[in-house]
Amino acid sequence: MVETVVSVGLPVGEKLNVKKNVIKPMVLTGKEKRVCIVTGTHGDELEGQYVCYELNRLIEEHLEYLTGIVEIYPALNPLGVDSITRGVPGFDLDMNRIFPGGEGISAPEYVAHKIVESIKGADLCIDIHASNIFLREIPQVRVSEGTADRLLPYAKRLNVDYIWVHAAATVLESTLAHSLNTIGVPTLVVEMGVGMRITEGFCHQLVDGIFALMKDLDVWAGEVITPKQPIVSRDREVGFVNAGRPGIFLPCVPHWNDVKKGEMIGRILNPLEGKVEEEVYAPIDGLLFTLREYPVVSPGSLLARVLGGDRS
Ligand SMILES: [Zn+2]
Repeated sequence: MVETVVSVGLPVGEKLNVKKNVIKPMVLTGKEKRVCIVTGTHGDELEGQYVCYELNRLIEEHLEYLTGIVEIYPALNPLGVDSITRGVPGFDLDMNRIFPGGEGISAPEYVAHKIVESIKGADLCIDIHASNIFLREIPQVRVSEGTADRLLPYAKRLNVDYIWVHAAATVLESTLAHSLNTIGVPTLVVEMGVGMRITEGFCHQLVDGIFALMKDLDVWAGEVITPKQPIVSRDREVGFVNAGRPGIFLPCVPHWNDVKKGEMIGRILNPLEGKVEEEVYAPIDGLLFTLREYPVVSPGSLLARVLGGDRS
């Protein structure tokens, strides 16, 4: 059943509505666990749209296997999704920097507050992001060092390739995931693919993982896959590659490929003079898990990230 999580009036009579589809088992016992799937916080990240569609479709197709409650929120920032805008249009802010929000502040903060209220008490939340328009990422879960012990058992069942445990310093307290983890809802942040596009294979991989995790939580009783064993970054080095010169970046190796230290991964071109501004090399041996998709670069632009081998 589609429910409205929050509705806020817009200046000229329209409304900002955040909606969720609540899917319940045919017979309720009152003891059901609840899983929330959320996406669309960043309006230019669309991979989650296909994941939501597939989840809805597959659950409805076999409702007899549903033993818990699944809530699907495709667009936490609907104005952003509608207008291909990363942030909240008209307010010039990043929706994922205003959680947990509050009442009596701005409209987006009120929306954030109502979203947190709606998810509160769930047994698990999965927040799906799709990098941005600049970088392509392999399917991964990102967790903070402080929440890793609690979240890793869930993250390892999600059928992703990689779990990036971030140092505490890089954790942003104003994100939805941080707010939910603080109030006791285990929340996994998934990053995969690239902004403004849908990578079908990645979406199917994640949907399979969500079903596997739902089965672990007694929310789903149907057949599920055996999730793949992800690489966990904790004991590994991550090599960053940044542009030294401005120009047009053209990679010469595919994303999600093993590279050797010193191997050329791309070139920065000067279209005005027909020259190569810079040749770009892998900083360490490892897996090219991030690769720049958007060609225009300035000095400092992130071009790639390489995941090194086991340090032990
Ligand atoms: Zn995002």
